[in-house]
Amino acid sequence: EMKAKAKEKLWDEKVAKHFEKEVGKLQRMNPQVSEYSIQRNYLELFLDLPWNEFSKDKFDLKRAKKILDRDHYGLDDVKRRIIEYLAVLKLRNDMKSPILCFYGPPGVGKTSLGKSIAEALGREYVRMSLGGLRDEAEIRGHRKTYIGAMPGRIIQSLKKAGTSNPVFVLDEIDKLSNSHQGDPSSAMLEVLDPEQNNAFYDNFLEMGYDLSKVMFIATSNSLATIQPALRDRMEIINVTGYTIEEKVEIAKRHLLLKQLKEHGLDASHLKIGKPQLEKIVEGYTRESGVRGLEKQIAKMVRFAAKNIAMEEDYNIKVTNADIIEVLGGPKLERDKYENNNVAGVVTGLAWTSVGGDILFIESILSKGKGNLSITGNLGKVMKESATIAMEYIKSNADSFGINPEVFDKYNVHIHVPEGATPKDGPSAGVTMLTSLVSLFTQKKVKKSLAMTGEITLRGKVLPVGGIKEKILAAKRARIKEILLCEENRRDIEEIKPEYLKGLTFHYVTDMSEVIDIAV
Ligand code: ADP
Repeated sequence: EMKAKAKEKLWDEKVAKHFEKEVGKLQRMNPQVSEYSIQRNYLELFLDLPWNEFSKDKFDLKRAKKILDRDHYGLDDVKRRIIEYLAVLKLRNDMKSPILCFYGPPGVGKTSLGKSIAEALGREYVRMSLGGLRDEAEIRGHRKTYIGAMPGRIIQSLKKAGTSNPVFVLDEIDKLSNSHQGDPSSAMLEVLDPEQNNAFYDNFLEMGYDLSKVMFIATSNSLATIQPALRDRMEIINVTGYTIEEKVEIAKRHLLLKQLKEHGLDASHLKIGKPQLEKIVEGYTRESGVRGLEKQIAKMVRFAAKNIAMEEDYNIKVTNADIIEVLGGPKLERDKYENNNVAGVVTGLAWTSVGGDILFIESILSKGKGNLSITGNLGKVMKESATIAMEYIKSNADSFGINPEVFDKYNVHIHVPEGATPKDGPSAGVTMLTSLVSLFTQKKVKKSLAMTGEITLRGKVLPVGGIKEKILAAKRARIKEILLCEENRRDIEEIKPEYLKGLTFHYVTDMSEVIDIAV
């Protein structure tokens, strides 16, 4: 039976010969011994795997664009890059171009873009999550002499795909970790290297498998933790978070319909107006992407589904009262900007792998001998920023109008609230310094102002990263003015003007300018 099936396989001579030989082994085995079933499984894997079975690519780029537009709202730059990529693919007709890597916070549509690309090309789609994968054998498989041996996840995924050229999404490539059980990222390097991946060796298969026709797409939440050699192979496409307005549009056009469908309903069963969607976004989600929003909408849909099933009356058009009934009172007010009513409190902008955020830096004085203490679960670099800020103020006390004697008579304590969240990076430098100057001069900091930037001992302000995400976070928190390093101006210029509506920017190069603007 196996031999008959094997006739239909399109495998090369080498694989055919190997298969023939292994079938011979099986025939000579006693069906009672355990090796028999292992060998059988092994041969079945060969029959289940696609060998040189390709789906034909559809390179109609207009159609591809339509599919991308149908599934995703906004993301114009990203879609343009994808179409360009597909255009090059069409012209070259091989997979030797760099691998696309979608980089951005969770829930912004990275994985679902991969799915749309697969559909646009008419290829199969498989997804493999690399989060927390630390054992090389997970990628490459175990030798079949091991008890319970299996092929690696690459080969398993291809079996699932059923063709040798699927779109293969490698999710969270930044979470690939190293451990004593071999180095999974070096196996990954081989997978992604067009020079080597035409014979990717799987330990279980005991053969090279040709991955060169597979279209790999990676996704990642952070660039810092991707292995540098892997990063070199990839073309990074930045997918940033959404504004409130965009989220409302996404919810209206996509998420609600999708959830209704998943619950066996359609658009006639539940309508949520824009003001209500905005309420849900603002009151119940705090994220750059839309995954939490989708969950909240699912709750609303379930509520409708329950009422339909129980034949009870409900409002087809959701009211504000319905939202409170189903989702409870609004949960998230934290992200809002608080007035800095005391001197020493300053708003900063932070970047995290789940998007931008605002943070407050507070400092107080107490009687003492000039000690500096810092709390709030801060990393080394952030603590250094505090020390730099303190020393800079000490040496420039006059120019800030501070009496140098206070330094010896008081202790300074700096705290960054939400102590449960670890924070690090140099970008809070300006914020710390402003907080300390405000504290020593007892002048309050301007309202609705937020800032980000690194400082040096000479009082220069340096540019920092994650600007787009930080701006979105500032908008969510209703900040009005933002203070940045002059060199970050070009990052702002790259952002779509509608994201910047209602914000005033101050660009600075020197700490003295920061203080002039802020206090
Ligand atoms: P990620 O991979 O970036 O974490 P996903 O691709 O899983 O995010 O997206 C989460 C959900 O949000 C999916 O249901 C996706 O379809 C939806 N989504 C995200 N961005 C958009 C968008 N721009 N338009 C429509 N739906 C979107």
